[in-house]
Amino acid sequence: MAFVDDTQGLSVLDLPDRVRGLVIGAAVGDALGAGVEFQSRESIRSEHGEVREYLGGGAFGWAPGQTTDDTDLAVAVFDTYLENDGNFDLASFGRKLENWYRSDPPDIGNMTRDAIQLLTEGVPPEEAGAMAWDASGRNSAGNGSVMRCYPTALFEPLDANLVSDSIAISRVTHADPRAADSCVVVNTIISQLLAGATATDGVSVASGGEMDPRINEALAHLDDPATFDARGYCLGTMQIGLWALLNFDDFEEGLVATVGLGYDTDTNATVAGALLGAKLGYQSIPGRWRSGLLEHDSLLQRADRALAMQ
Ligand SMILES: [Mg+2]
Repeated sequence: MAFVDDTQGLSVLDLPDRVRGLVIGAAVGDALGAGVEFQSRESIRSEHGEVREYLGGGAFGWAPGQTTDDTDLAVAVFDTYLENDGNFDLASFGRKLENWYRSDPPDIGNMTRDAIQLLTEGVPPEEAGAMAWDASGRNSAGNGSVMRCYPTALFEPLDANLVSDSIAISRVTHADPRAADSCVVVNTIISQLLAGATATDGVSVASGGEMDPRINEALAHLDDPATFDARGYCLGTMQIGLWALLNFDDFEEGLVATVGLGYDTDTNATVAGALLGAKLGYQSIPGRWRSGLLEHDSLLQRADRALAMQ
């Protein structure tokens, strides 16, 4: 099936190109940002100018082209759908999170760690995130569920399940409504893009949902990247991703600008890469970024298995 972008002057993209662009775009963003995670904008600028190549290194000693927890956990969501005939299963997802946690990953977010620790103690996945959130004082709304949310847009496109799955999957580790609703927004826009909507129309559809008012406030301010909280806050990461989506028709320039905003660079660029990849397609991703991505082939296989289930 072919989809046409008629208002942005983009070439005609077919669904496979968009789906592969979504999956590989997210991982490319993760790998591009990994080497400068936690660095300020100023520090990145003075040390690297712009980040246009996989640097590797960083706080966790990544290999160039290696992805991080963002992609690991997106794969956990992805494989849960693939193994359950395209439907989500919280118990299966919970077991994947526990197995990943026991593999001693180098980088793990605080709320993700606390919630998975509860899973290992026998707390059901429906309750773990809310318990961890209560224990944290209910103030924390990190971006740890937004970074892994995109597979739902592939398996539950334009469907009521897109909203309920996005929220349920977020709540396994991130129960704050800002985090859950950020996942709803990002997945709604991705599903619109996959169906051929323009970025502007996708954001407009997502803005019309019933959501936490702080989401609407964030969506009303997407113009000035200097105002976005790039330090791991779900709404800041959502805003950065949407800013990149709305302002760039060149995949590389959009991701370079996103990483240049600093701080939680891998996660911010994962979300931006997913959105830009779904808009612009796999062919828009620079060849050197595709070939240098260590997990490229296994991720592309997943994208193609998802396509075969559409
Ligand atoms: Mg990461």
